[in-house]
Amino acid sequence: MTLRDRHLQRLRTETFDTLIVGGGINGAVAAASLAGRGANVAVIDRGDFANFTSQASSNLVWGGFKYLENYELPLVFKLCRSRNQLMKAYPDNIKQIGFYATLDQTSPYKPWFAGLGSLGYWIIGMFGTKRPRVLSTDHIEREEPAIDTSNALGGIEYYDGILVDNDARFVFSFVRGAIDTGAAAANYVEMLSAERSGGRWTARLRDVDTGDEFTATARTIVNAAGPFVDEVNNEWGLTTEHRIVYSKGIHLIVPRLTTTEHHKVLAFFDDSGRLFYVIPMGRRSVIGTTDTRVDTPFTEVTDDDIDFLLDQINARMDLDAPLSRADIIAERCGVRPLVVKRSSGDQSDVDWTKLSRKHAIETDHARGVVTVFGGKLTDCINVGEEIADEIEALGVPLEPDLHTWYGEPAEATRDEFYRQARLMHLDQYRTKADTEPLTDRLWRRYGRRAFAMLEAIREDPTMAEDIMGSADYLRVELHAAARTEMVTRLEDFMRRRSKIDLVVHDDDIRDSAGLAEVAEILFAADAERRLAEYFGGPDEIPAAVRAGLSPVDPI
Ligand SMILES: Cc1cc2nc3c(=O)[nH]c(=O)nc-3n(C[C@H](O)[C@H](O)[C@H](O)COP(=O)(O)OP(=O)(O)OC[C@H]3O[C@@H](n4cnc5c(N)ncnc54)[C@H](O)[C@@H]3O)c2cc1C
Repeated sequence: MTLRDRHLQRLRTETFDTLIVGGGINGAVAAASLAGRGANVAVIDRGDFANFTSQASSNLVWGGFKYLENYELPLVFKLCRSRNQLMKAYPDNIKQIGFYATLDQTSPYKPWFAGLGSLGYWIIGMFGTKRPRVLSTDHIEREEPAIDTSNALGGIEYYDGILVDNDARFVFSFVRGAIDTGAAAANYVEMLSAERSGGRWTARLRDVDTGDEFTATARTIVNAAGPFVDEVNNEWGLTTEHRIVYSKGIHLIVPRLTTTEHHKVLAFFDDSGRLFYVIPMGRRSVIGTTDTRVDTPFTEVTDDDIDFLLDQINARMDLDAPLSRADIIAERCGVRPLVVKRSSGDQSDVDWTKLSRKHAIETDHARGVVTVFGGKLTDCINVGEEIADEIEALGVPLEPDLHTWYGEPAEATRDEFYRQARLMHLDQYRTKADTEPLTDRLWRRYGRRAFAMLEAIREDPTMAEDIMGSADYLRVELHAAARTEMVTRLEDFMRRRSKIDLVVHDDDIRDSAGLAEVAEILFAADAERRLAEYFGGPDEIPAAVRAGLSPVDPI
């Protein structure tokens, strides 16, 4: 029985204190905080965990320097506090990073003024990062020759945090944490409807993977459906003070644009005076984002979006050749669920980019529903804590919050891992020169679960081999993913547990015989079906991948 099957079984049979609808960051932290405080909780998502907005972010853990433009000081203060708390709790997963902003004649601020702003930001951020600095044009030319300084007046450098892996994996770490403390969790389970009677909810659910329908019961519900919270509430006739509007944002992933040593986020003002970034992602750069009002959560990257970002970059960077569509390795696209009061009308006359990024939580005490509107990855600990408080107020008894439901393992556990890895010379297994040491990678990705990987490699050194030439994944990681990471479809692994789909060219994926082994480890006898699903049909499986599949035993 797979991990998912076991959890589906629990959904069918147990009565939960809380059923959480939506496994993006808000649903994941709700599950982790409630389970960590002793509630019997279930979390479901109709796609994979983090399949929607929470896989489309900029991967930044930040106080929102740009929100100072709207004088949102309390929001910036709160987000900086959350940023500091997260960076402290996840020292290996969230790293401090410099934001290197170049200002030219067309920028809305002069460097001295931006320098004052960055000092204010640092102070509001309670000195939680390195001190900002003002940059001369000479500094910029020397430190990052890829920036075009022909029109530059100077710049600033200030600091925030970045998720070293990716947003979706960070979300999954909370789901995994919730499972470890007793939660039931299942991806590809949709809530179709729910009814309340006798003080409990009966939800009609559908296993999206098989089409099976079944029911689950719970005393309370957390609606964490992100851009779909209003739709879910409408379903059971619940009216709220707030509602969601959507702002679309895209990113383009291209080969690294900056020099290797310059591991910083580049920041520029675009032609409309809005900040956009070039964000490092391993050997790649991520360009974005945009901020466009849309009326639907279902969006895609358009030709205009691409042209806009490429033009902005080519006008501000001194690249060997102008960046073109052919350089794009992958795209990310999502909608920010922004919160507005229903009483504020349709907001058509409002400057969309100035709408607040605050979250709101509303509780319907009569019906036992908590709804989370909006939010940011950066604010996730607060959201988890606030939801737990609301659930407790609905009568679910919780243990005191010892703040153990988030964060990396203790320093002493980390030291022991590094000691064991050193004794077995783990880093010498690394075959690619320009990748990080394996010890750092395994510890960051798996924490305590990485100890079992050391043992597996000691027993069988082939477990430390790279499984796909173009991706940084060891065989042992695949075996662990198959057992513990609820990978239901191949895309879950390629796009969310790992970021292979984002950083490896499509052609390299299609040419990879190793992908067949990936699928066989993850799905055993179901590998070919899952490969066909990933490539869009049985006939679409590339020859190189098909050739890697193990021959089927004649019966
Ligand atoms: C372009 C962009 C850049 C961003 N950059 C940053 C950043 O750098 N830093 C930061 O802190 N924040 C950033 N954000 C904001 C952040 O990503 C979002 O606020 C956050 O991911 C929202 O999470 P969520 O859980 O509310 O929604 P989602 O991640 O969308 O999760 C909701 C889930 O509910 C599920 N669902 C819906 N209906 C049902 C149903 N009936 N049954 C079961 N499941 C259901 C969906 O499948 C979905 O997975 C960015 C957002 C965007 C769009």
